[in-house]
Amino acid sequence: MEKEAEKLKREGWVVKGESTGRCNYGVKNKGETSRFVKTKMEEQIRSILRSIGEDPDREGLLKTPSRVVESLIFLTRGYDSDPEKVINEALFTENYEEMIVQKDIDFFSLCEHHLLPFFGKAHVAYIPHHKIVGISKLARLVDVYARRLQVQERLTSQIASTIMEKLQPLGAAVVIEAEHLCMRMRGVEKQNSLVITSTLLGVFRTRQDTRAEFMNLIRQRS
Ligand SMILES: [Zn+2]
Repeated sequence: MEKEAEKLKREGWVVKGESTGRCNYGVKNKGETSRFVKTKMEEQIRSILRSIGEDPDREGLLKTPSRVVESLIFLTRGYDSDPEKVINEALFTENYEEMIVQKDIDFFSLCEHHLLPFFGKAHVAYIPHHKIVGISKLARLVDVYARRLQVQERLTSQIASTIMEKLQPLGAAVVIEAEHLCMRMRGVEKQNSLVITSTLLGVFRTRQDTRAEFMNLIRQRS
């Protein structure tokens, strides 16, 4: 491993001073992907284009590598955000102990197995215990985890457990309904099928009435 790190350093993959969540080799400096790394990525996309039988030098494809790189960086920008910070930025003390639900949060993610999109709606709820978080932060939290390479199951549980950990509520619940293009485009599963995952923690797990209330709330179509 050490050898690998040395090799990457020699090749210029290590940007001085910064290491980020993205990888151990600090491809980013102050949240910016370095020009060096972008150039490397563009070369790789060019070579993929060649590998699929395309001519990366034909007019329509000339700017494709740099566009793909920019879009990939955008689609994985969640690696640059710290979920803990997102919550801590808007944490308030409040003696409110009723269910807070934000439903129908649109999200877009990339499946880590095929790098193809999966997207849909996330429904997030918690029952506070002394601490509440600014409501927009729930959607932000979904985004921070969705904009990474993901599997739907992990995305669901990461959102719920971050809320549980940082807010210490009586309970937290997340339900995600998503379409996976890797299934639809490759025709391996039933077309138009939705994958539904849920993580229920605290009172959402232990109290049937709480769980039912949450499920009812998210089922009501606006
Ligand atoms: Zn997939």
